[in-house]
Amino acid sequence: MPSVISTDVLIVGGGVAGLWLNARLRRQGFSTVLVESASLGGGQSLKSQGIIHGGAKYALHGALSGASEAIADMPRRWRESLNGTGELDLSGVRLLSEAHYLWSPGTIAGNLTSFFASKAVRGRVDQVKGEQLPPALQNPKFKGKVYRLAELVVDVPSLIERLAELAGDSLLAAQQIEPLHDNGELAGLRVDGREIRAQRVVLSAGPGNADLLETLGISQPRMQRRPLHMVLVKGPTLKPLYAHCLGGGPKPRITVTTHPAADGQWVWYLGGDLAEADGVAREPAAQIATARKELESLLPWIDLSQAQWATLRVDRAEPAQSGLVRPDNAFLDVQQRLMVGWPTKLALAPDFSDRVLAALSNDGIHPTPQPSTTDLPKPPLAIPVWDQLLP
Ligand code: FAD
Repeated sequence: MPSVISTDVLIVGGGVAGLWLNARLRRQGFSTVLVESASLGGGQSLKSQGIIHGGAKYALHGALSGASEAIADMPRRWRESLNGTGELDLSGVRLLSEAHYLWSPGTIAGNLTSFFASKAVRGRVDQVKGEQLPPALQNPKFKGKVYRLAELVVDVPSLIERLAELAGDSLLAAQQIEPLHDNGELAGLRVDGREIRAQRVVLSAGPGNADLLETLGISQPRMQRRPLHMVLVKGPTLKPLYAHCLGGGPKPRITVTTHPAADGQWVWYLGGDLAEADGVAREPAAQIATARKELESLLPWIDLSQAQWATLRVDRAEPAQSGLVRPDNAFLDVQQRLMVGWPTKLALAPDFSDRVLAALSNDGIHPTPQPSTTDLPKPPLAIPVWDQLLP
């Protein structure tokens, strides 16, 4: 194993942003090394709900301004990759649902009116009834209205596994990162004592970016963390449901996604308003009690008597919000040979990689012949949270 490695692009962080970028760069002939200090996907990515948003949810509060936002194109790009015809071949990745749904319980019409008035969703939303309803809502007692959004839900563990395959020999498990300078310019990183020289360094370490920037002695861009307190329910009576349930406000009252546990049962993963400010303030037992009450009132026909419950506290890492930051695009800051960013959503990993590729092209960085990097210690794949918390 060489103690000095040369590569075109050195990526730090093996979540969806780093892995997607890595796979795209390799496909274009760039040599890469991707350093991961814990497990692949084990940061925010495997804790996400896997929804490939097209922006419909954001139209509820008017934040989506229209087609110029990158997010509107994400479902198409993901679908093409999942079909094996897009920018990456993700044909083996499991699609959990062809659609995400918007579900308005009872008679709440106010927020739906403004939602349908939004240009961003016109023509992309259809009402569904009867057998077209998501399985968990197919009950004579169900009274609400349900709309099908052109958004996908992917199985993130199988996505990360496929992206790790596409990474070939480029993955490196390592903890200690220090800057490597030549004549005062960043020439790469020293990783667990090994020099890795690179034309460009990309930090895609999610919440880890803040500490990495400090290590490199750089104060910008600033990062913010948005805490969430998610709820997980596993039970033999649960059926698949992928939906934003609307409340009176601009945010979904609850967002439900359904994931396969290792023992074959379904796990409902609950986010939305339930997991935000008030939910963050609650202790786990109170958060579970609140979630249970919500489900019992929204879906009284579901038997939860045998359900197992857990909560998960997790922070979303994002660039510190300023007037200049648009929430529905990935964020990338370029400082000479260093790039640092956050996709801000799993769905925006393709947009994050576009931004890096555009910066490489701007700077005239092309693939160069490099010796291959075999025998590097490999980081493990992360275990899905539902299997960790509800074994
Ligand atoms: P991460 O997945 O956090 O990966 C960063 C990686 O860097 C980690 O593996 C970490 O171990 C590694 N790392 C950290 N420090 C270092 C270091 N010093 N050296 C080496 N490696 C390091 N988005 C959607 O589009 N749809 C959703 O449905 C959705 N649901 C979400 C639900 C929740 C509860 C949360 C928290 C987020 C959700 N998101 C969703 C957002 C999405 O998960 C994130 O935007 C995305 O996963 C971020 O990917 P990332 O690769 O930047 O970061």
